[in-house]
Amino acid sequence: MTNSGNHMTADEFRRHGRTVVDWIADYMQRVEELPVLSRSQPGEVQAALPSAPPDEGEPFDRILADLDEVVVPGLTHWQSPNFFGYFPANTSGPSILGELVSAGLGVQGMLWSTSPACTELETRVLDWVVDLLGLPERFRSDGPGGGVIQDSASSATLCALLAARHRTGGGDARQMTVYASEQAHSSVEKAARIAGFAYDAVRFVQTDAAFAMDPRALNDTVAADVRDGFTPCMVTATVGTTGSNAIDPVGEIARVCRDHETWLHVDAAMSGTAGVCPEFRWLHNGVEAADSYCFNPHKWMFTNFDCDCFYVADREPLVAALSILPEYLRNNATVSGEVVDYRDWQVPLGRRFRALKLWFVIRHYGVEGLRRHVRRHVELAQQFAQWVQDDPDWELAVDPPLNLVCLRHRAGDAVTEAVLQRANATGRMFVTHTRLDGRYVIRVSIGQTHTEQRHVEQAWCLLRDSAAAVLAEP
Ligand SMILES: *Cc1c(COP(=O)(O)O)cnc(C)c1O
Repeated sequence: MTNSGNHMTADEFRRHGRTVVDWIADYMQRVEELPVLSRSQPGEVQAALPSAPPDEGEPFDRILADLDEVVVPGLTHWQSPNFFGYFPANTSGPSILGELVSAGLGVQGMLWSTSPACTELETRVLDWVVDLLGLPERFRSDGPGGGVIQDSASSATLCALLAARHRTGGGDARQMTVYASEQAHSSVEKAARIAGFAYDAVRFVQTDAAFAMDPRALNDTVAADVRDGFTPCMVTATVGTTGSNAIDPVGEIARVCRDHETWLHVDAAMSGTAGVCPEFRWLHNGVEAADSYCFNPHKWMFTNFDCDCFYVADREPLVAALSILPEYLRNNATVSGEVVDYRDWQVPLGRRFRALKLWFVIRHYGVEGLRRHVRRHVELAQQFAQWVQDDPDWELAVDPPLNLVCLRHRAGDAVTEAVLQRANATGRMFVTHTRLDGRYVIRVSIGQTHTEQRHVEQAWCLLRDSAAAVLAEP
């Protein structure tokens, strides 16, 4: 049986749409039972798919059946409450529904005039987020600054660098230098490559015992580059590094930037969300001197990928760096200068209505609701860290500032690595690793939407049981 190849009618959409929403709700309920890390072998999913598309349309039920049979077994379940890998990439009911509405409307928000609501809702929600995280007022849109939603922190860092290069005078990017700590995210180096900087333009500044950037080392590196004829363009300070959650001293870094007239970008992709809780706002100390800032609601704020909030203190260099106005985009609103055209704040022209999902999330939870959940994740991580400290066989690699616990077995790297493999193979939890000071470290990132105390307890038990089994091996 095929469908007739016609468009889905509104009634069919209603029927299938209900089925899909039920399917997602069932997935939410059963995801905890599924093996967290996919057991799929390379090529297995492809082999289960036909090599050519269907000539005639297929019934919707058949498509859904393949979701269960082919797709789900090939998934690593990021939404499992037992997922502690990489970083949280949590989502929530209101976010998924906001995303659905965005797809249903299908508007392009490249210009204010292509959908005024798409721009103005985004501006308003990003101003809300300034209050929500206690960010500096200069990032609000009612002054020279403002915020925009990017697809990712990587794009935000690239846009910051393009704005910084513009402000530096638009000279030869191959003579310009970029700075970040040796623990900074790879997106800094990628941005420099894309923006046309020399491949060796990024200076990886030394970190201290807590893996945070050493501002004196930064100052020395910048001064040496200036002596050698380079133009320092941008420093990226990381608030919550990917490896260990280290927090660079933004205030001291800002002083170095001011002395050398260098753009300061703050990358808080993973940890910025903690600012919703007043007791964690120390995290943003010094950000008031930053030229730009970004964090990802798509990591730890219950908003599905993609959603990065990017702020600038002065939008002029950003827009100047990215604005090109061809005839076919000319319109009265743009020419009047009364409106924001977000196409000038990002790399692509087209843009989705991403503010909807963030608006749904903030309104659904409210400020207090978001606080409660973030606070709980941090509490669970701190409790986990205490268990590690109380166990003579294990040690913390760093004191966890927030919701990421980095630990290792005292018997050494080989044992720690074997424990991770063994624990992940149970399918009942998933953690990832890094190296800090050359030593193998298990990272336990706590921040999934439905992670509760019992999941964290189970993960700790599985790690200890795995260690016992590894050590008992001949
Ligand atoms: C995750 C992360 C990034 C990259 O985020 P994307 O949105 O995937 O580009 C950059 N910096 C830090 C500190 C991160 O944790």
